[in-house]
Amino acid sequence: MIPALAGAGIGRLTIIDPDLADLSNLHRQPIYRSRDAGEPKAALAGQFVRRLNPFVEVDPIERRVEPGNAAALLGGHDLVIDGTDNFAARLAVSDACVDLGLPLISAAAAQWQGQVGLFRARPCYRCFVGDAFDTDECDNCAELGVTGALTGMAGNLAALLAIRFFAQAGSDAAGQVHLIDALAGTTRLIRIPADPTCRTCGAVTSS
Ligand SMILES: [Zn+2]
Repeated sequence: MIPALAGAGIGRLTIIDPDLADLSNLHRQPIYRSRDAGEPKAALAGQFVRRLNPFVEVDPIERRVEPGNAAALLGGHDLVIDGTDNFAARLAVSDACVDLGLPLISAAAAQWQGQVGLFRARPCYRCFVGDAFDTDECDNCAELGVTGALTGMAGNLAALLAIRFFAQAGSDAAGQVHLIDALAGTTRLIRIPADPTCRTCGAVTSS
């Protein structure tokens, strides 16, 4: 995702990641090298971007996005792309985006399944997955495993949606999710219905 965005000359990238590079991540996070193990991922990603395209302004932030800080971290941006590895973080990011009026591209993958979609106001990501996972981190890549080829596919699809968004190219992708089934070798595009009882976007006027 980051190479595609930086290579495309995206104007400014804020990269938020609290973790350190780990050898177990390398198969799915190819901007890191084995010698980077133990170094902060956000700073390493910033270096990668500067080397690839010095015209991109990059701001690495070594923080974990949580409900209490999401609005402060995400506010002021034009678009948010979420690639976090657990539902609690994804829902915190989504709720903040709805509150701030920011469009959100959510990209997730576990085992052999991937999901990538653009959400703007309503329906939101919470309409898609529901409330059950706010405090549940049972779904992360480290526990379930994921193939790096699939995260690469999901990440690049997220970058493609972002480039389309900024270039205003193609149809409006808001409210649609690409479902990738790596075992079947298929992708499906589904439209997400707004949840009339959604506690995040239920009171937001549809755009
Ligand atoms: Zn919603």
